Amino acid sequence: MNENKWGPSFIDNQVLTAKLRRGGIEASDTSRVREILDKAILAKGLSIDEAAVLLELEEPEFLTELYRVAGQVKRDIYGRRIVMFAPLYISDYCVNNCSYCGYKHDSFQNRRRLTTREIADETLAILAMGHKRLALEQGEDECNNPIDYVIEALETIYAQHYQGSNIRRVNVNIAATTVANYRRLKQAGIGTYVLFQETYHRPTYDNLHSGPKADFERQLFAMHRAMEGGVDDVGIGALFGLYNWRFDVLAMLTHAKALEQDMGVGPHTFSVPRIRQASGVDLKIFKNPVSDTDFKKLVAILRLATPYVGMLLSTRETPELRREIIEVGISQVSAGSCTGVGGYTVTSSGQERQKPQFKVEDTRTSVEVIQSLVDSGYWPSFCTACYREGRTGDRFMQLAKTGQIQNVCGPNALLTFQEYLRDFGDAHLKDCGQRLIETALEEINNPRMREVTAEKLGAIRQGEFDLHL
Ligand code: SF4
Ligand code: SF4
Repeated sequence: MNENKWGPSFIDNQVLTAKLRRGGIEASDTSRVREILDKAILAKGLSIDEAAVLLELEEPEFLTELYRVAGQVKRDIYGRRIVMFAPLYISDYCVNNCSYCGYKHDSFQNRRRLTTREIADETLAILAMGHKRLALEQGEDECNNPIDYVIEALETIYAQHYQGSNIRRVNVNIAATTVANYRRLKQAGIGTYVLFQETYHRPTYDNLHSGPKADFERQLFAMHRAMEGGVDDVGIGALFGLYNWRFDVLAMLTHAKALEQDMGVGPHTFSVPRIRQASGVDLKIFKNPVSDTDFKKLVAILRLATPYVGMLLSTRETPELRREIIEVGISQVSAGSCTGVGGYTVTSSGQERQKPQFKVEDTRTSVEVIQSLVDSGYWPSFCTACYREGRTGDRFMQLAKTGQIQNVCGPNALLTFQEYLRDFGDAHLKDCGQRLIETALEEINNPRMREVTAEKLGAIRQGEFDLHL
């Protein structure tokens, strides 16, 4: 796959390491730290050098200030909405041997790939939880999971209806591929294309990978190719714990900058998974654990460096930590997730449960997750409006960077949550949720927007679906 016209690699280990070193020195300069935090609160972002200084903060006083500023910036850009999604694993066939993954080729025998009927059943099970947004996941295997299989899966997912509801956005997390294949995914209605670099530190990357994914450049420039193929929204990420987390944060910011420079638009989302226990994985080989404090710090710093990039949190983290991390930067969370193939329907089919890709730490049902968000004052959102209104790519970024996106995010959160409460959830959630919607409606400042939202809320209560702004 020699389609890299953007090379050489934009990741230079020496440059990033030097930035970290300089950041460490500057972090002891109180006035420099204050200067950066004063800039950060304006929600216009930070340079990579400034982020490097914040990465080295250790004093409790400054960390408290960092979290306060990150929380403020998050509320300024995203308000109180939290977008909900669920992963759908369609195939665990994989030819790669990534050392950290439960699906790695050498340690997994009984693989499974869902049939069209099974994909439909899994989609219906996810719809029955109230979700409208999916992340499609599969391993890399040209024979068992070719691009035709993914395209067919997208068509199947979009075609399912459950009591009037359907999946309205499918984000796709599949192996790095060609411009031609990305073009086909675009035509099939892909939402965001998601792919993690895992670690940007090349020696570590080389050490942990074998199989086609071992090609560092293929992985690194996948988003460039996806955008070349017409995919508007891309999501990047690193698996924290493989290498020095500070290095990978700076590298992710460098990746975002490279996309902006080369393709005109930065990433739509960041994902911040931390390495987790998985079957056949020896966690002892990973010498760069990320503590809960460091994890919170890195989320807060990414939020301040790139306020307009959505940030996803999976069920890899405990409910308690998820609550804390949401406060300082997360804008999308998964709920009620199964991280194995066919996991949503396994109880009804009587089939044996497939091995999951990794161990989930938040095992609450989606209703429990949503209730806890409501209890914390957040607005659970099932919104997928931007994609369908053409607010993608640079159009989306313009609205996000100026904070104007909040004018539609808030009302859309209330509209989609109203639809959810009408059709799903228990009596307690319906009661608390309805009260939240009524209070939140009064908080919409623009009188015309408030009026339109109130009208649409009424129409949804009367049975209309999919009303958005
Ligand atoms: Fe395969 Fe992805 Fe797991 Fe690597 S991380 S073994 S590519 S499923
Ligand atoms: Fe996301 Fe756009 Fe909906 Fe806001 S309005 S939640 S940015 S899809």
